[in-house]
Amino acid sequence: MIEPLSDLSRLCIHTMTTKPWALPEAIDGYTAAGVPGITVWRQALEPQGVAESARMLAGSGLRVVSLCRGGFFPAATDAGRQEALDDNRRAIDEAAAIGAPLVVLVCGAVPGMPLAEARKQIADGIAAVVAHAEGAGVRLSIEALHPMYADVRSAVNTLGQANDMVEALATPWVGVTVDVYHLWWDPGLEQQIARAGDSILSFHVCDWRTPTRDLLNDRGLMGDGCIDIPVIRGWVEQTGFCGPVEVEIFSDEYWATDQAAFVERIKAAYLAYC
Ligand code: ZN
Repeated sequence: MIEPLSDLSRLCIHTMTTKPWALPEAIDGYTAAGVPGITVWRQALEPQGVAESARMLAGSGLRVVSLCRGGFFPAATDAGRQEALDDNRRAIDEAAAIGAPLVVLVCGAVPGMPLAEARKQIADGIAAVVAHAEGAGVRLSIEALHPMYADVRSAVNTLGQANDMVEALATPWVGVTVDVYHLWWDPGLEQQIARAGDSILSFHVCDWRTPTRDLLNDRGLMGDGCIDIPVIRGWVEQTGFCGPVEVEIFSDEYWATDQAAFVERIKAAYLAYC
């Protein structure tokens, strides 16, 4: 049986989880609540720019766990694919600037494009930016998304597919993210987590609500749904992973509430259900 999380030392919150907060408010809110880690979404950088964001984060004492997100490699045209590569190189530079060791990739998909073709374009796209990532000292992490997003968000829908890609790319600069929301249903998950081994670069948690009222913005707080997070965390930690447990919740319901109170609920749910 896995050890419960007895303190907040591994807790990280994604800025998207507290979307109503701009970056300065998130920094203040997390530090006031004793949350040690932050994963920054790129839109949170925009209002004050990357340099000022980097200055604020560096002075906050927070551990910057990752930057979300790069990816969206497939496109119908050469120009579109080139634009995606340029944007991923920018994301890598932004990560380096804010001290994030990792860019999480939501790999992309194009409605009507065969998924196998999309996966080929994703693998080619990642291969094209690996040298830039290595030069910046930033790793890239493939996050498989639940198959309900296979039309427009990601043609990588199982950890097995992400592992296939990582093995083919064969570089320590590319690994995988295990997100319980996207992967909990997979009967091969335990085996694929073991296969991923030390290429697991990050671990995301939230919960799957029944019923799910919105495909994008109705993720549950841990304990709201049916995912057995400690079991999956146990499999992940059997590989040697001991990094942050990142709370990533997109929820119209929780975004409408007081965010400081929500962070307190996250802390309690993290200790009780992760
Ligand atoms: Zn995630």
